[in-house]
Amino acid sequence: MEYNDIHTDRKRGILQILKGMMVVILAFTAVFFNAAGLRVHAAGDDDYIEISTADELMNMSPDGNYRLIADIDLSGAEWKPIVFSGHFDGNSFSILNASVKQTGSFVRKTYDGNMKEYDTSFAGFFEVLEDGAEVKNLKLINMRVDVETDKPCFAAGIAGYMEKSSLINCSVQGIISLRAHEKMFGVGGILGYGCGSIERCSADVTLVCTDTDADTKDEQYMGGACAAGYPDINDCEIKIAGFDSDHGYVHDGGLVGMYIFYPAGIDYHGSITGNHVTGKIRFFEDNTNRRAYCKGFIGEIMIWEFDNDRNDTDDFERDEIFSYDKDIKPHECDAPNMEESVTAPSCDFGYTTYTCSNCGYSETDHYTLKSHSFEWTINKEATIDEEGFKTGVCSVCGVTAEAVIPKLELPEGVTLLEPEEEPLPIVVEEVTETPVEDTDDKADKKGGAGIIIAAVLILGGAAAGAFVYLKKRR
Ligand SMILES: [Zn+2]
Ligand SMILES: [Zn+2]
Repeated sequence: MEYNDIHTDRKRGILQILKGMMVVILAFTAVFFNAAGLRVHAAGDDDYIEISTADELMNMSPDGNYRLIADIDLSGAEWKPIVFSGHFDGNSFSILNASVKQTGSFVRKTYDGNMKEYDTSFAGFFEVLEDGAEVKNLKLINMRVDVETDKPCFAAGIAGYMEKSSLINCSVQGIISLRAHEKMFGVGGILGYGCGSIERCSADVTLVCTDTDADTKDEQYMGGACAAGYPDINDCEIKIAGFDSDHGYVHDGGLVGMYIFYPAGIDYHGSITGNHVTGKIRFFEDNTNRRAYCKGFIGEIMIWEFDNDRNDTDDFERDEIFSYDKDIKPHECDAPNMEESVTAPSCDFGYTTYTCSNCGYSETDHYTLKSHSFEWTINKEATIDEEGFKTGVCSVCGVTAEAVIPKLELPEGVTLLEPEEEPLPIVVEEVTETPVEDTDDKADKKGGAGIIIAAVLILGGAAAGAFVYLKKRR
């Protein structure tokens, strides 16, 4: 063997060792916590970060790979929509009470039917889904978008804007409301503006779009699935209650407001099949040159380049009115008298119903997390060194749950003199049945334990960041 070969071999060997060390370091980081302190599951190409709390949800990075492992209540916090290019799996858990009150800072061109361009802002659970983003199995319950802006803007339940991304098996229930006046704006149940695919999704939405300026004529859009663009939409269930006040031109559809390819000159063949639309859009179009596009399927179709099959919009109602001095709203009482009725959580979410005693208008708000009646079996007791594990069955609905029992802490003043010995098992005295709060601070309370004990406690305290995860087994 020549010197150069040996040298190369050694170099390779050292590189291999370094590479091995990197893998070990990365694997260690990946299995336990990422930079944001979130628990990470590593499973080959299928790596994802588990999300079980509002804080974790609010600290998602734009290109991460996430999976919900619990229902999350966002009430009390204003949700800041993100521009997202990663993968998000709602895992059939629900996000309750997300509230969006402002458009994001992201600007993208939108195009009207004359291919005029507008620098447009967006609002939605996701402000923007970038090329390649995928969101699946996400359920938004009581999604609230309530935005007023003087910029061109699209607001929607799941994504304000989408660029060649996918929404699969998602649902949204809530109220999307936009007040605007600058030339180009609209509201969609699932998507505001864009392209990509919306498959097996559902929307049960109240959509309100109000033109706040009666003097300029605007292009205004509303759609139960999508306000404008050319997304493929297949096998979706849409229930819409639309309220559109427009001093300009409406493009309203039970499914899509306006179907348009953009920018000019693109070649695409779309697919809009198997969708079911019910509901109504009440609107006015204050304009002397009226077109008043409003249909159950698509308000205005700029180009018929799509498969069109099995779409059922027979139960859609077009409700045009001809007085333009008063904005159209879901609840029209001048002096509402709302009465509250609370439905407690059970094996389903709780909520409050607000009903007007003057006119009978009613809406639900303030959803609360499910409250099952679990009977727990401890499968493994927790010790100082290891977490325990328990499984529960709801005695009412039969849903099952699994929960980690946090590691035990040493009682005050107790130290282990010989840490290499088998630790004594300590019996769990009380097991909490609700998600355990972050226990980071617990490690601080202990003093006097040896270095090994301290290390165990710090790691234990961080890792215990205890979570309960409820998993429906169908
Ligand atoms: Zn139950
Ligand atoms: Zn009323």
